[in-house]
Amino acid sequence: MKCMYKRKLVKLGIPLGVVGIILSMSLTQNMTTSALKQEETKEKEIYVAKADEVTNTVNDNQRDEEKTEQKQEQVEEKHPINYVSKPTFYQNVIAVSNPDSMLVLVNKNYALNEDYEPSDLVLPNVLSTDYNQNQNIYLRKEAAIHLEQLFYAAQNEAGLTLLARSGYRSYQTQISLYDRYVSQNGTEKADTFSARAGHSEHQTGLAMDVTADSVNRQLVTDFGITPEGIWLKENAHRFGYIIRYLEGREDETGYQYEPWHIRYVGVEAATEIYENNWILEQYLNKKS
Ligand SMILES: [Zn+2]
Repeated sequence: MKCMYKRKLVKLGIPLGVVGIILSMSLTQNMTTSALKQEETKEKEIYVAKADEVTNTVNDNQRDEEKTEQKQEQVEEKHPINYVSKPTFYQNVIAVSNPDSMLVLVNKNYALNEDYEPSDLVLPNVLSTDYNQNQNIYLRKEAAIHLEQLFYAAQNEAGLTLLARSGYRSYQTQISLYDRYVSQNGTEKADTFSARAGHSEHQTGLAMDVTADSVNRQLVTDFGITPEGIWLKENAHRFGYIIRYLEGREDETGYQYEPWHIRYVGVEAATEIYENNWILEQYLNKKS
């Protein structure tokens, strides 16, 4: 290459000395170009390395998260009661030891005594599906006060009218209710939406079934997509209530999705449960 340029330059009548200078300059330029190219490649390599580093960091974070998740799973597995496995429902039933606690756990594995009745039941001052006879909507005092605030906020903040349909139920009432559902639907189906006596949260005096005129005051899953149901889901925790039986968690709670069944647990617990999209069992496991 160099010789070819030299010949061409000489042919053009450029003195040999100048040709030498030109050629050395062009060589320097070539060298510079190749040095630049090398640098560019280096930079690219660094960039790729950095990108790899970032990817690795992300992977590390993911791994850490996975590790944490695994740890949590292990902790949950260590818990003596397996809430999440369907075949254990109604087996090895444990008697509830803290029936008066706002965080009492009543489910298909924890049962209330048939004599348990809260001592502080009151009639909340809210609209119900049964305007004249409100016998069905008694709640424990703290839960009742918060229900009043919840219903008031729905009306005041969003112009939505919530209606209380069913609150405290005695052990005896639950027996007749469950038996009626079994005779109508069979045991398997009845178990997806009705609790056996002693296993109903309604016996705690901390649960209320809520509905609205938009679903003809019925307790149906469509309530979850009405403005009232959506508002309830997004705001109940501010007043200490949670939607107890979440959509997609049926295998864990043992119940179908019930957007109407709210359970009082106190504002702090309700907020944490809501923000993490937990079910009550999960919250209690993490706190124990
Ligand atoms: Zn209910």
